[in-house]
Amino acid sequence: MPVLAREMGETLNGMGHPALETARPVAAEVAMPILRRGVVGLRLTANTQRMALANSPSKTVAVIGAGPYGLSIAAHLRKRRISSRVFGMPMESWRFMPKRMCLKSVWSASSLADPDFAFTLDRFHESAQIAVDRPIPLTFFLDYAKWFQEQAVPELENTCVSRLSHVDGRFQLGLTDGRMLEVDTVVVAIGVRSFAYRPEFARDLPANLASHTSEHTDFEPFHDARVAVVGSGQSALESAAFLHEAGANVELISRGPVRWISRKLYRHGGVLKTLFYPPTDVGPPGLNWLCGAPLLMSRLPAGLRQRIHTRAVRPAGASWLKPRVDGKIRTTPRASILDVQPEADGLRLRLSDGTERSIDHLMLGTGYRPRLDTIPFLDPSLRRQVSASNGYPVLNQWFESSVPRLHFVGGLAGWSFGPICRFVAGARVAARQVAWRVAEAA
Ligand SMILES: Cc1cc2nc3c(=O)[nH]c(=O)nc-3n(C[C@H](O)[C@H](O)[C@H](O)COP(=O)(O)OP(=O)(O)OC[C@H]3O[C@@H](n4cnc5c(N)ncnc54)[C@H](O)[C@@H]3O)c2cc1C
Repeated sequence: MPVLAREMGETLNGMGHPALETARPVAAEVAMPILRRGVVGLRLTANTQRMALANSPSKTVAVIGAGPYGLSIAAHLRKRRISSRVFGMPMESWRFMPKRMCLKSVWSASSLADPDFAFTLDRFHESAQIAVDRPIPLTFFLDYAKWFQEQAVPELENTCVSRLSHVDGRFQLGLTDGRMLEVDTVVVAIGVRSFAYRPEFARDLPANLASHTSEHTDFEPFHDARVAVVGSGQSALESAAFLHEAGANVELISRGPVRWISRKLYRHGGVLKTLFYPPTDVGPPGLNWLCGAPLLMSRLPAGLRQRIHTRAVRPAGASWLKPRVDGKIRTTPRASILDVQPEADGLRLRLSDGTERSIDHLMLGTGYRPRLDTIPFLDPSLRRQVSASNGYPVLNQWFESSVPRLHFVGGLAGWSFGPICRFVAGARVAARQVAWRVAEAA
């Protein structure tokens, strides 16, 4: 099946869309020679101890990360009866988001991925029988993810990976609880939280005067404070709204204009909505179908892919947020911060429009820049073995790096597969591809 047709089918089908129910990708239908596999894939290396995995019919895969991607991959591996061990605090990044936050992504783009569509948002909604508003509140999404994890990935290890190295063709993992283990296959699914981007002007400022939006779940401590929020993406805009509602004196400063995602045709519903908005809902109409087809995206020339990426996720806020910002919060668009100096108890900002500000706190809504060389646990010699482009690992269609059996998903796969990797909606394709590859190789 041509890639485009297959991927479009995947986009619709993967989201439970009825229109292409018959267009399941051929790869997903291929029966795996699971029974051939019988080798135990994990051994403890501390004190040269070896531990066989009880009842493990296949080689064990270490999944580093228990967010939407890690959980979705583990669910797919489980379906194929491939033993996996999932490390990390479940949905940790989401637990550090503002408590009253709502999801920017729409309902159809917010399900975690299990291979049988048994644990979708719809299924949870039906079984929990609780009313839920749109946009989706974070609390509801976290309840859903907990339910997904309990059903689809019951065994998790609430410990982190502190070191990953590659020795004699196998991967050695050091865990923060002191254990070590060795596996054949590793999936790095650590999201982007550890890659929060701080512009040069803010790098050396003390934490009490400057922070990244990712550090805040509660904005009450900023009551009466003068806060400048930098940026114009969803996090910057929503943080500005929360600060304003908490009684702070807020100004939003952004290099570009403040944009809102209008989704005019989406609101019409019916055929127009179906035609113009794929369920994945990443990118503007026209580009969104392409962004929803990451395998196709990966085949485009890098320059074009990068341009599409930049356009598809340019800073903008969800339209439901607009009434909480417009007319309520002072905004200074098209201005850059040139210089920041400490003064009295706060900071003095010098802007590119020639003006200055005195503030108590600078909040950076400046996004995330995932980079291979800043993954804290990656052993330098392994890092050198991974081919990279623009700081990202270069990946084949199985999300596998130049080091065989080392996979990267989520934000770190963005260079190869485009902007959908930054969103929950990208988890299904990643999980399907990785699980297929692991099953084939076993
Ligand atoms: C404020 C905000 C709002 C967002 N809203 C949306 C939205 O509405 N819709 C949407 O689709 N996306 C949204 N996103 C993006 C969202 O973060 C991603 O879609 C999603 O979390 C990606 O899943 P992931 O599994 O790749 O990463 P994460 O959810 O970040 O999960 C990473 C996991 O890795 C674990 N981990 C990290 N380091 C280690 C280690 N060393 N060892 C073991 N485990 C480790 C963590 O504990 C965590 O469990 C938002 C992001 C932010 C910051």
